[in-house]
Amino acid sequence: MLRVAVVGSGPSGVYTAQALLNQSLVPEVRVHVLDRLPTPYGLVRYGVAPDHEKIKSLQNSLRAVLEDERVTFVGNVQIGGADGVPPARLAELYHAVVYCVGAAADRPLSVPGEELPGSYSATRFVSWYSAHPDIAPDGFALQARSAVVIGVGNVAVDVARILARGADELRATDVPRAALGALAGSRVREVHIAGRRGPSQARFTTKELRELGALPGARIVVDPAELALDPAYAAQEGLPLPAVVRRNLEVLRGWSALGEPGVADAVRRIRLRFFLRPVELLERGGRVAGVRFARTVPDGAGGVQDTGVYEDVEAQLVLRAVGYRGVELPGLPFDAVRGTVPHAAGRVLRDGAPSPGEYVAGWIKRGPTGVIGSNRSCAKETVASLIEDVPLLARRPAAEDPLAVLRAWGLRPVEWDGWLSIERAEEALGRSLGRGPVKIPDWQGLLAAARGASG
Ligand SMILES: Cc1cc2nc3c(=O)[nH]c(=O)nc-3n(C[C@H](O)[C@H](O)[C@H](O)COP(=O)(O)OP(=O)(O)OC[C@H]3O[C@@H](n4cnc5c(N)ncnc54)[C@H](O)[C@@H]3O)c2cc1C
Repeated sequence: MLRVAVVGSGPSGVYTAQALLNQSLVPEVRVHVLDRLPTPYGLVRYGVAPDHEKIKSLQNSLRAVLEDERVTFVGNVQIGGADGVPPARLAELYHAVVYCVGAAADRPLSVPGEELPGSYSATRFVSWYSAHPDIAPDGFALQARSAVVIGVGNVAVDVARILARGADELRATDVPRAALGALAGSRVREVHIAGRRGPSQARFTTKELRELGALPGARIVVDPAELALDPAYAAQEGLPLPAVVRRNLEVLRGWSALGEPGVADAVRRIRLRFFLRPVELLERGGRVAGVRFARTVPDGAGGVQDTGVYEDVEAQLVLRAVGYRGVELPGLPFDAVRGTVPHAAGRVLRDGAPSPGEYVAGWIKRGPTGVIGSNRSCAKETVASLIEDVPLLARRPAAEDPLAVLRAWGLRPVEWDGWLSIERAEEALGRSLGRGPVKIPDWQGLLAAARGASG
């Protein structure tokens, strides 16, 4: 019997478990999927936007894997860190451990004023409306009239869309009570999305972009002069542009032709801005009051350069969405420059050599790129390495009952019945509010709901 621990129950953890079940070289496999949270699915639950129901429904296929009798979900177990199980001790319990801990920390802007009240990472805002228990449920009051989102990827578009979408529409989702209340009382009227490069280099997909234009009560404003600055835009007819860039440019061109909406035309305006590099967050009365941008132009080599011209954009709320990075897990090697664990085809490298029984998959292996499905092939590669190593791994000792050992160490894991109990509590909460399931946003509430199952 091969006993494997997978640390992290996001897409890469669950796809790793699935690949272990699907291989045929080692028929007898048991997989424990551990997570520091009492809830499974990682960023599918706590990152994918609540109004993206189709992507959210991927949880159903992840669920089928976690319900397989050879798989055990072990929530509420942190690996590494001050209160966590050290990786070296976890390694004593299993033939192999696969780390799938994601890369959910935000990249800083590294500009003055970044820490002012009113300036937050998009990660924090996403975690808030997704009910992540590490973020206070009343974390955002949304008293700002103007918000700036820095970054032009899908996460930037997600947070801008949630800011601009009316709370009425979000009532049908599982957005937690306090967040829905704050969004309902939101005073935000202007949302600026700003990127330092041109539209042809923005990383949003056309689908996400079009969704912005379809928001009831919101109008998109695009400055034709900023589009025209982009060499790809100017040469659109002649250049063999990637399809996504061509489609994005078409959508932006359509919006730029609409001009500035009249006061009565839209409740909220979303201004898509390009060639603006943030250089400072401006302060008034101890809070953020705006963003000073340096205007940039293409440098002819695929990048941009400053022009020496500055533009201040008023904002009482600033959300930074300039990328994610991995966080070091104490006890595991870490490449601080890449923000990933060093590996060779998924085998963790310690001092350049594969460390027996230690593997990685997902964002912590390859960095925060790709879509959810990209984690499947990533996990498959790691599992192929692990299975190749089985002759070596089988010689390592493993505990007969790792869960009993974890409990003896004082841990109180939340297993699958505990998670099902959380789901029922969220359905009951939703019913009491006349809504579908509503997420429980705090540790105490989640653990109380989970213990409702097993006492
Ligand atoms: C805001 C946002 C929106 C996104 N929207 C989309 C989308 O619409 N479509 C799409 O295709 N992709 C989307 N993505 C990308 C997608 O979420 C990722 O590709 C995917 O979640 C990465 O999977 P992962 O398993 O590596 O990491 P994660 O999903 O982050 O899972 C990591 C898991 O590990 C657990 N963990 C972390 N540290 C520890 C520890 N020390 N001990 C125990 N457990 C631990 C975490 O609690 C978490 O459950 C989005 C990403 C973000 C950030």
